[in-house]
Amino acid sequence: YRLGKIDKEETTCGFCAVGCRFEMWGKNGDATGVQPVEDPTKAPANNFSTCVKGKFGHEFANSDERLTEPLVRNDDGEFETASWDEALDRVASELRAIQAEHGVDAVGCLASSKGSNEEAYLVQKFARQVLGTKNIDNCARLCHSSTVAALQQTLGYGAMTNRINEDIGEADAYLITGSNTTESHPVLATRIKQNVRDGADLVVFDPREVGIAEHADQYTRTEPGYDVAWINGLIRYIVENDLHDEAFIERNTKGFEKVKEKVQAFTPEKVEELAGVPPEELKSAAETLADAETVVFGWAMGMTQSSHGTQNLLAMADLALTLGQVGKPGAGLSPFRGQNNVQGGGGDMGTLPGSLPGYQDPADAEVAETFEEAWGERPPAEPGLKVPEMLSEAHEGNLRGMYVVGENPALSEPDIQHAEAALEKLEFLVVQDIFMTETATHADVILPAATSPEKHGTFTNTERRIQRVRPTATPPGTARQDWEITQELANRLGYTWDYDHPREIMDEISDLVPIYGGVSYDRLESGDEHGLQWPCWDEDHPGTPYLYDYEDGEFNFDDGMARFVPADGGHPGELPDEAYPLTLTSGRVLYHWHTGQITRRVEGLMSHVGESFVEINPSTADELGVADGEYVRVESRRGDIVVKATVTDRVVEGTLFIPMHFAAGAVNKLTQENFDPHTGIPEYKVSSVRVEPL
Ligand code: SF4
Repeated sequence: YRLGKIDKEETTCGFCAVGCRFEMWGKNGDATGVQPVEDPTKAPANNFSTCVKGKFGHEFANSDERLTEPLVRNDDGEFETASWDEALDRVASELRAIQAEHGVDAVGCLASSKGSNEEAYLVQKFARQVLGTKNIDNCARLCHSSTVAALQQTLGYGAMTNRINEDIGEADAYLITGSNTTESHPVLATRIKQNVRDGADLVVFDPREVGIAEHADQYTRTEPGYDVAWINGLIRYIVENDLHDEAFIERNTKGFEKVKEKVQAFTPEKVEELAGVPPEELKSAAETLADAETVVFGWAMGMTQSSHGTQNLLAMADLALTLGQVGKPGAGLSPFRGQNNVQGGGGDMGTLPGSLPGYQDPADAEVAETFEEAWGERPPAEPGLKVPEMLSEAHEGNLRGMYVVGENPALSEPDIQHAEAALEKLEFLVVQDIFMTETATHADVILPAATSPEKHGTFTNTERRIQRVRPTATPPGTARQDWEITQELANRLGYTWDYDHPREIMDEISDLVPIYGGVSYDRLESGDEHGLQWPCWDEDHPGTPYLYDYEDGEFNFDDGMARFVPADGGHPGELPDEAYPLTLTSGRVLYHWHTGQITRRVEGLMSHVGESFVEINPSTADELGVADGEYVRVESRRGDIVVKATVTDRVVEGTLFIPMHFAAGAVNKLTQENFDPHTGIPEYKVSSVRVEPL
């Protein structure tokens, strides 16, 4: 894209899925600064606010460590610079050779939740149309796949039901759980805290005393891995005491009796035994939520990343339906999603095994015919491999080639020793990214790509709002736009893609994806530019601020009724024992983002938190003979790491916390490969470990 000496554009933050809008400045091709938009109506999620990452984090784009030329591994196993033609030809020929010898499904693709909708759409199209493989997935598998599965089963759509400002910002009460909102979604947390200061009730259930708990009317510490127990316990108390919304349940739902029966076992005593929640705290939380006119239920990975992740979220949906708190302003079920475009690129665009763009079923003949007509190839009807399954199959030698775009499984997978061995076993790995990631070090070809301050495109934030992204910087060296790279590969493999601009890709998306049917760049760029929230069925549809307006009687099922689905929990996959007596949980810090590839390259962010650490409760530290600031070895059955101890009562006795952002002291050397059977999401939040002072 041609940029002038100095540019300024309204764009969307490339970090978390709050989707803050701001103006970004650029000079001579570098991103140089961020300032609030002049008109706050153009920033519906954040108005004037940004957090420290949004404000200063763009500096990573100017890093000297950016990949600038294609790299190809030579016969000595070293990377050497290659021309684009050489690199792309090699990718095309290696992928085709593997497929010719071992079948189309011997290769798999990972799309990115960081790139744009248009780029994600093309990666799944490349997988299904060009390669003909059913193996396409992305890192949403590892964060909110259990949310999507549970909300689809109960409400019909696997997405946030409401809006950030008008609903989450205006609720009368909140139940926040498994979310370190202050650090992971800072601007969203600010809206909640402002509303709590104005009188809203905040109830926080979490194993760790996260920042948002400091503002709570009630903070209840829970045992990691037993969320179904306390949520079912809340439902039991609410129903037993006639606090449920009988009219709503009668009018808008099915299956309540089965849930009523299921929750009978979750007596206050049982809940205390399993989840560590005292009966009086269960009672006060239930009464606070039942008394409120409107309630928002907010959660993140503390709920989803569990071997019972789907069950946790079924229970949460059951609770919201029991209270009649879905489908009206100020209320709703609010998954706080992580990456900037995980809603769009990680789900809506069909980068999922067994789900075409817009969550359409490839086994549905009518749907498959629509795509066949548009693409000239019928998409595979069978579901393909999920991310962890791809790595296991690579390990077994059944998956032989991978195209990984903007993802870093060598650091993000549980038990990364296993993930790295799987990547090493691949016959051919191509990684498209902006830095030499831990995954890229295992690649045969590396393709240098552009990043958010260098792109035209759209992101869809956690409230389903599709917003424009615009460039103020240019990619370094010969690095290219992701959509251009995927197009070049498709054309080398015999197809004729001829997109000139991401707006043309969005036109194709709106033709094929009913929930994006009315989305176009013209609309996104017109008027007050507040984005469009899906479903947006056609060019006259205004978008859907909150889903399931139950006054109109519509949940997303043929009969318009929501479904209660009984949830059951059980124990986490690994419990403390004599050899590994401590429970490890993991999460995020304010100054970093995901596997840290981006934020570890920003000096200003590293100056706040520059290395990994382990939080240890003072009495556990005493027992172990560990002092604050000392280095310790943390070991699980999978591996061990050395990290600095932070002695704090944010964690309870016997429980540890380590952030997920660092390669040195990588927490996923310790985590376990235990998965939710419904979605394949790993149980990152509970692992058994031991600690020894050095
Ligand atoms: Fe960006 Fe999220 Fe911070 Fe907003 S809250 S500025 S979207 S990282």
